[in-house]
Amino acid sequence: MEKIVFGIDLGTTYSAVSYVDSYDKPVIMKNRSGKDITPSAIYFSKEGNIVVGQVAKEEADMDPTGYVEFFKRYMGTPFEELPDSVKKKFTIGTKEYRPEELSSLVLKELKRSVDESSLGVKMEQVVITVPAYFNEAQRLATKTAGELAGLQVLEIIKEPLAAAFDYTQNSGDDNRTFLIYDLGGGTFDATVMSISEQEVIEVASEGDSQLGGKDWDQRIFEFLYEKFIEEHPDYVFSPGDEKQLLLKAEEIKVRLTNSETTKAKLNFDGKKSQPVITRQDFEELTVDLLERTLDITDELINNSKAKGFKIDAILLVGGSTRMLMIKEALQSKYGLEPKTHDPDQAVAKGAAIWAVFAYTKGQKIVEKLASGELHEDSLTKEQKELLKNKDSFGEKLNTSVASFSNLSDKEIVTAATKTYGVKMIDKNDRPIIVNIIMKNTPLSGGYVTGKSKCYTLADSQELVEMKIYESDETEEVVNYKDFMVEQLVGQVDLGLPVGLPKGSPLEVTLTLNDQGIINAYAKEETHGRDASAEIHIKGLMTEKEMSDAVAHMNTLNIVDEI
Ligand code: ADP
Ligand code: MG
Repeated sequence: MEKIVFGIDLGTTYSAVSYVDSYDKPVIMKNRSGKDITPSAIYFSKEGNIVVGQVAKEEADMDPTGYVEFFKRYMGTPFEELPDSVKKKFTIGTKEYRPEELSSLVLKELKRSVDESSLGVKMEQVVITVPAYFNEAQRLATKTAGELAGLQVLEIIKEPLAAAFDYTQNSGDDNRTFLIYDLGGGTFDATVMSISEQEVIEVASEGDSQLGGKDWDQRIFEFLYEKFIEEHPDYVFSPGDEKQLLLKAEEIKVRLTNSETTKAKLNFDGKKSQPVITRQDFEELTVDLLERTLDITDELINNSKAKGFKIDAILLVGGSTRMLMIKEALQSKYGLEPKTHDPDQAVAKGAAIWAVFAYTKGQKIVEKLASGELHEDSLTKEQKELLKNKDSFGEKLNTSVASFSNLSDKEIVTAATKTYGVKMIDKNDRPIIVNIIMKNTPLSGGYVTGKSKCYTLADSQELVEMKIYESDETEEVVNYKDFMVEQLVGQVDLGLPVGLPKGSPLEVTLTLNDQGIINAYAKEETHGRDASAEIHIKGLMTEKEMSDAVAHMNTLNIVDEI
């Protein structure tokens, strides 16, 4: 049996798995219910069994306690730092689950679908995708989720990049500047990406992590709720009823993609109502949501234009782009006919192609190490990470990178996903943040670097503490506000020589690489004393927490049905 590697779109609402088949085509791996996508939803029964996916969603309307979803929103946040309402939801019995542990259960279910399928191979090496706006902590937490599920995560890549890859391999069209408009269940992401024969450049990304199909569902929910209450004014909805009505709302939304009008059949506790809802009603109820995505898109397109990139194609990604209003609005606004190729599968398929590249890359390095052409010590951090489990590159793949020759030679230039700056004091003694690396700056050659000057604040100052902040700011200088304490990612301490007068010049340099690692360097210019620090990612699970989590995961039993 030849080796198969997998691509996973670990979505906020739905996840999908793909692999490149022996005809060199990325295909979707169906789940155990024969479906292409699996809801990223978990239900814990009181007896200690777990169901994942559609069954979990259905259990939720019987018993909403024990049901968890939307954990991807909190990826990379330690349990203690979650909002209280979320902590409550992520606590099952006495066990407090971190978002990466919950995500790992979804991954385990996807793995189970593959392992027990007729494909005849196990899911072992994978590439998992993340939103473009994920920072390093969120990317690493995603990797942790994979490891907790018993997977070897070859690489983590950005969703829009995966979608563009899938489109390019499928169409052979590799000279374009795309707007990738991704409206999923809970998030909206827009990215401009330019693909030429030599390069793939991530020009810029914008988004709203709190806007998605679920908000459209909510509007239908409210509509149906009101109609029902008009007929049964005394009825009091239970949490289970509400969950059920929400599921109904989603169903109706999907129906309105194919029909002009539909009837909701509601029955709560024997009380019935059959409100009619038309597509036009739906569009009117949600026009402001659509507008929000268009405003973000406009801003992105303008930013990209300013950098010399004009879009000539629109690629629709995410299940919610099936709603007709999206396509129509984009077409009339930008005069380009949006391409809808696999809206809810493109990301997984692109990840599957990437998995082939990553596995092949690993194999080549292993070969070179064996032949002595490369030495362990000369491996980069990323190469070492890829080769964590060297023995796993021994088998021959069922496909080859040669089938994707129009993709494999391209250099990929990603962009900074966040803005990084240093806290300083302005002339009026007020704290400010001076942003040094701006979000969306290209990492040409794999990194970007920026410098800024500042001055000592007192005579004979002994120490400067350069505090580094990560944000989504677009302005170079912002006033420091209290909430920004949460954006602190690290600091460099520079001890100063004795006797420096107040106002002595200092220089700070930040470097960000395409693995999200930030290096900070501070120098005092009078005598040239300097200090540097690599910024450590906060909030990751420790080895001990990981092994405890793995042990706990092993006590859990994922079943088909409760
Ligand atoms: P995510 O990436 O957020 O996990 P997806 O890209 O899979 O999610 O999108 C899921 C969203 O797409 C859900 O809100 C779902 O209701 C919506 N959706 C799926 N199919 C349709 C359809 N035919 N019409 C309208 N919305 C749809
Ligand atoms: Mg998605």
